[in-house]
Amino acid sequence: MAEIKSFCTHAYHAATLCGYCGRRLSFFGGRLDSKVKDFIVPLSKGGSDVPENVVACCKECHLLKGDYLNYALLPLFLNRTRLLADIRRYVREVRQVLGGHSSLVDLPR
Ligand SMILES: [Zn+2]
Repeated sequence: MAEIKSFCTHAYHAATLCGYCGRRLSFFGGRLDSKVKDFIVPLSKGGSDVPENVVACCKECHLLKGDYLNYALLPLFLNRTRLLADIRRYVREVRQVLGGHSSLVDLPR
């Protein structure tokens, strides 16, 4: 398990692309493509602050995802790939609904 932890920590620091939408991440803060730390299983839904639960993503996906968690996938908690694929699909669908009005994500809901 120590190898997985260290791999995930390294993957986060080395990431140059968003883990959800694949866009190139900016290292300047305050932009929609800024690199942020996202908890795959949100802390508010019982996720923990461990490297295995962290993914590097853009600020826009982070805002779109919010504290999304598909409970049907919880039994697959250890299946990170499956969970990431589910969140990617969710973020894509939210984008379609917003119809490219990505500035909407900056509005409080
Ligand atoms: Zn993204």
